[in-house]
Amino acid sequence: MPEDIKRGAGPRPPTVYLDNSATTPLDPRVADVMCPWLGPVFGNPSSLHLVGREARAAVERGRSQLAELLGASPPEIVYTASGTEADNLALVGIAEPYEPGDCHIVTSSVEHPAVLETCRYLQRRGVSVSWLPVDGDGTVDLSSLRELLRPTTRLVSVMAANNVVGTIQPIADLAAIAHEHGALFHTDAVQAVGKIPLDVHALGIDLLSLSAHKLHGPQGVGALYVGGAARIEPQVHGGGQERGRRSGTENVAGVVGLGMAAELARAEMPEEAARLVELSDRVIMTLAGAVPNTYLIGHRFRRLPGHLCLGFHGLENQALPLLLALDDQGVAVSSGSACSAHHGNEPSHVLAAMGFDAVRARGSLRVTMGRFTSSADVDRFLDVLPGVVGSLRPVGSDVLLRK
Ligand code: PLP
Repeated sequence: MPEDIKRGAGPRPPTVYLDNSATTPLDPRVADVMCPWLGPVFGNPSSLHLVGREARAAVERGRSQLAELLGASPPEIVYTASGTEADNLALVGIAEPYEPGDCHIVTSSVEHPAVLETCRYLQRRGVSVSWLPVDGDGTVDLSSLRELLRPTTRLVSVMAANNVVGTIQPIADLAAIAHEHGALFHTDAVQAVGKIPLDVHALGIDLLSLSAHKLHGPQGVGALYVGGAARIEPQVHGGGQERGRRSGTENVAGVVGLGMAAELARAEMPEEAARLVELSDRVIMTLAGAVPNTYLIGHRFRRLPGHLCLGFHGLENQALPLLLALDDQGVAVSSGSACSAHHGNEPSHVLAAMGFDAVRARGSLRVTMGRFTSSADVDRFLDVLPGVVGSLRPVGSDVLLRK
């Protein structure tokens, strides 16, 4: 751990932040609307007096702003404390009412742990789970879905866009196939909401999870869209908030922030997406000349704007040294492997599902841009990367030297 963090001086702000898939900086316009609710203005939205009614109005305004981004109606939005909680509520909430043996879920092999681990938990409780394969770009196979569906399939859950490689899934097709077989369709859209258009009705989505901190909103706030056809069993019991679907006093400042983040994303999405595509295309084009051993992982076009997962021939297995060397130069990116404070440097299950071997599944960098990524940030990354890549010893050089 760096000395300044150990000493409690607080982390040094990264000079160039290219890890927007991990979390996004809070938009100052979001902070502005949240601030009063963290200070002078307060109230329990369930209280009947004026102070409480004002808090209720703020909570409901946030709900309407979010519903509008998704093409939903406000009562279909259930606030949660995270994207992870929204995923748990969707999966466990649908499966729980069924007898063991009477519930089958189909999900993909590239889901975030919030879905993967919840499915494994449900498996231990008697729910059958099938895993959809993906191709080399990370796209799920529609014909496999048709083969996996059974009369007891209650839910198909496939993420809207992948958090490692950025590949966007054919959501409308997946939902249509699920519905043909009488199953509901859930999508973990934590990475996609606010970046690409997602209209729940046009796409046929029954349940959709999202998280405020991925769209320049606050951390610790999420939501689950629950369409009319879906009945979920509550997982948090208590005072009956959120129409009985998720008890607990609402995080007023948080949901006010989520609402504003949703409104800004809706207003700015087309321009912002075009800007991010241009920036990431510039990275790809420049690296093709400057670092010729670079390759792009994930779908070339059906990919989140500003999301790049990069591999480097010869530097397989070196994601961690690459990440740390860039960090030393003031550039914050993440590894495309499962590499994190919790998982060390395990190979990525996403890359493994895409057909990468165990060595290559450790060797990628995830570079993700956001609203506050400037052209100068990209220039700095492009200046620093060739030197960093050049300074690392290629995989297998030990073996070659020993020969
Ligand atoms: N799902 C996906 C695809 C994610 O990328 C993440 C976070 O990275 C989550 C779920 C979890 O969201 P949260 O951090 O709000 O729990």
